Amino acid sequence: MKLLSLKCPRCRADLEGENNSWIFFCRSCRIGVDLSRGHEQEFAYECMAPVIQRSETARYFVFWLFHTRYHALAEKEQTPSEVCGHFWVPAFFIKNISYFGDIGLYYNNRNVTLQTERCRKLTLFPADRGEAHAAIYPEVYAVKMEAARRRRVTDTAILSTRMVWVPFYETENEFVDSILGWSYPFGAMV
Ligand SMILES: [Zn+2]
Repeated sequence: MKLLSLKCPRCRADLEGENNSWIFFCRSCRIGVDLSRGHEQEFAYECMAPVIQRSETARYFVFWLFHTRYHALAEKEQTPSEVCGHFWVPAFFIKNISYFGDIGLYYNNRNVTLQTERCRKLTLFPADRGEAHAAIYPEVYAVKMEAARRRRVTDTAILSTRMVWVPFYETENEFVDSILGWSYPFGAMV
């Protein structure tokens, strides 16, 4: 396999990332370079401040954060309401998602809001769920969440996209996210 040697489009330093990933990072410029649409797309990222403090070593897991606008229409209404919100979509895959659960959906249901802090020198879990794959999920999540309120979703538009690095603690056999405290066995994260 050909080894990718990607350079940061801003500072020309080597980008950080696994060979088979879709997203590569420059920590000094605080950007991710996404290749999932067949060309380089640059996205800014921020580091999330943990809500839960634990003593175990942490590493960062990357999420997409889509600022999204859509229309929601209840059955007997004539005019749809405009809804604006942020949707979290993991930039990694979860195996057996119906069994382990979708952390993106948990974050969105619990209304997790972005609280940043200075980025720390933690290792990074590979981000291989590119923007092209992730960008369809704000609508998927909106449809699920509005269905609970018996409303239909139309005209979904993504207003802006960025990435957030979220610290996860590493216990003996699982990763525990520092925002909601959900845990995933090592093998569930790909
Ligand atoms: Zn750079």
